[in-house]
Amino acid sequence: MDKISIIVPCYNEEKALPGFYRAVSGAVKDIDGAECEFIFVDDGSRDHTPDILDSLSLKDDRCRSITFSRNFGKEAAMYAGLQNASGDYCVFMDADLQHPPELLKEMYHVVKTGGYDCCAGLREDRTGEGRLRSFLSRAFYKVVKHICNLDMGDGKGDFRMMNRAMADSVLELKEYNRYMKGIFSFVGFDTKWIPFHNVERAAGETKWSFGSLFRYAVDGILSFSSAPATMAGTTGALLILAAALTAVFTVILKGGLNGIPMLVCLILLLNGIQMFFISILGQYVSKDYMESKKRPIYIVKKKRGFTELSHEH
Ligand code: UDP
Ligand code: MG
Repeated sequence: MDKISIIVPCYNEEKALPGFYRAVSGAVKDIDGAECEFIFVDDGSRDHTPDILDSLSLKDDRCRSITFSRNFGKEAAMYAGLQNASGDYCVFMDADLQHPPELLKEMYHVVKTGGYDCCAGLREDRTGEGRLRSFLSRAFYKVVKHICNLDMGDGKGDFRMMNRAMADSVLELKEYNRYMKGIFSFVGFDTKWIPFHNVERAAGETKWSFGSLFRYAVDGILSFSSAPATMAGTTGALLILAAALTAVFTVILKGGLNGIPMLVCLILLLNGIQMFFISILGQYVSKDYMESKKRPIYIVKKKRGFTELSHEH
């Protein structure tokens, strides 16, 4: 019998949790060949979430939970959940039923028999979300696609079931500033996307303000890309080019370079040179920054022809 670990980050979810537990318990009953465990991670909630988790673990021994000493953020909660999951398959789910439990069965079949390591939900629309937030999110994913070179598309969220190999690889990335969408993409493995429609959260309210979403977006870009440091270099090069053009045109049109055009030229040139060298410095710093994450240099999916012994070394 396979075990599926259902990992649920919870921050002030007293209103949503009872319904979540009922709906998901019902959905996993339908899955043949697998049992489940719940790993609830209470991310420093200030409401009755811990009490609800207490009573759940008393009445159902499949329910385990961890309570953080304060709010550490959803990324930390997901990491803790994964670290404590003992299942052959692990799935992340939000507590607010925005991730439809009826997809669990299909996800299990895909990872068990479909030849995929991971099966993830692809949110097709943004119903129930403010217009401005939808617009900004879309814009963010466009920018990320260009500068991070990772597959972190719009609608590709955290709702995904993965096998042990992939779960262990995700755990190998121990960086402090975690950005799960990027990490999933970084570790690789084969993922099948199954579409689902967005629904409004079952109860309670979203934990994200514009400020926190913006910080999350900036963190996401900085964790996976040093493109912002390169931007200074491009700007510098453009300024130097502008200085050269100003000089050439002034000489052609006026027959010499002095007075105000000369001053403009100098300002452009000096700033350009400065920017250019700042970006070189930025490159060194960002290399060191990426090194400091100590990410695995490669991730093995399968080995052939090695004995167990050589695997140990
Ligand atoms: N969450 C968390 N810690 C936080 C913020 C959110 O564990 O600091 C959990 C929250 O309880 C929920 C999930 O992360 O289970 C998604 O949060 P939410 O529904 O507020 O985000 P949204 O769906 O609006 O993006
Ligand atoms: Mg939600």
